[in-house]
Amino acid sequence: MNEPSTYEPMLIVMKPSATAREVGAVVEIIEAIGFRAHPMPGATRTAIGITGNKGPIDGRRFENLPGVAEVIRVTKPYKLVTRDLRPDKTIVRAGDAAIGGEELAIIAGPCAIENRDQALAVARIVQQSGARFFRGCVWKARTSPYTFQGLGDEGWEILTEIREAFGLKIVTEALDEAGVDLVEQHGDVIQIGARNMQNYSLLKCAGRSRLPVLLKRGMAATLEEWLLAAEYIMAEGNYNVVLCERGVRTFAQHTRNTLDLASVPAVRRLSHLPVLVDPSHGTGAAYMVTPMARASVAVGADGLMIEVHNQPDRALSDGAQALTPEQYLSLVAEAHAIRGVARSIINQSPSATPSPGLVTAA
Ligand code: PEP
Ligand code: MN
Repeated sequence: MNEPSTYEPMLIVMKPSATAREVGAVVEIIEAIGFRAHPMPGATRTAIGITGNKGPIDGRRFENLPGVAEVIRVTKPYKLVTRDLRPDKTIVRAGDAAIGGEELAIIAGPCAIENRDQALAVARIVQQSGARFFRGCVWKARTSPYTFQGLGDEGWEILTEIREAFGLKIVTEALDEAGVDLVEQHGDVIQIGARNMQNYSLLKCAGRSRLPVLLKRGMAATLEEWLLAAEYIMAEGNYNVVLCERGVRTFAQHTRNTLDLASVPAVRRLSHLPVLVDPSHGTGAAYMVTPMARASVAVGADGLMIEVHNQPDRALSDGAQALTPEQYLSLVAEAHAIRGVARSIINQSPSATPSPGLVTAA
């Protein structure tokens, strides 16, 4: 049998002229035969991803339905994160704040919520910088069980207060499934940490949430493993996923992790999802954070995650990589300036639109 392509369709591309009713009819058929349909409206057309198929699907049954332009076989292991499904970039929204749009997204705050005074002092600086997102962990996934594990329940009240008082969107980590519920109550974006990138039950749980998910790259994750982790979230129906490069473990000793900035264009080539860079965990050293943040923006990151502390030398976790408020404020100003220059250059560059790498059924 030399024709597997006709039996492995995973993606149905609708015509630009297809009506909502035609899209709905295709979705209905996919569901009626026991699969899950993931319609993704784009700027020019809607594509419908299919998951949940345990065996082959005969794509020819879809080809002649009204509004269908083509049936595409996705040969990559991921189906929903790919630009094949959605050539336009996804903009992830948290209320009136966005990641992946025109504006560089800044997520900043302390490593951990330590106490009310510390968290509010840092939140004030974050708001002053014009950033829309405040980060801060209520629980910490620490390498040693004997180091500060996070403030616990009081931390949620502090985050709620910051959200209301400063109008900042709260990005905070869910370490487990109960954590997803708590972030849903008190936060705006669920962070999945590097150590949990392949915690598949947690990924599925976040995939059932209505909140956007910020998925950090695992400490030793390949690009494909990282994208497949995002796929787990999306396969559950949550398409609001933001990727965050935070460095990987290498032999290097001059940094905590090796920040892989090449992952930004690599993600961009394969996926429609926005990608951020975290130069704080990516380097582990405050003096490197600003230079690597500049580079991150220049390479095309959609935003930055930055750790900042009102008193870095007293921080209960990650003090060595925390910026002072002054350092942080100048970083943000520089980042916006570089973003402006980079966008005007990139917009004129012929290589601005990488090939989406479509694999079309013959
Ligand atoms: C964090 O952002 O607080 C964190 C723990 O980062 P990572 O999961 O990337 O180590
Ligand atoms: Mn940290």
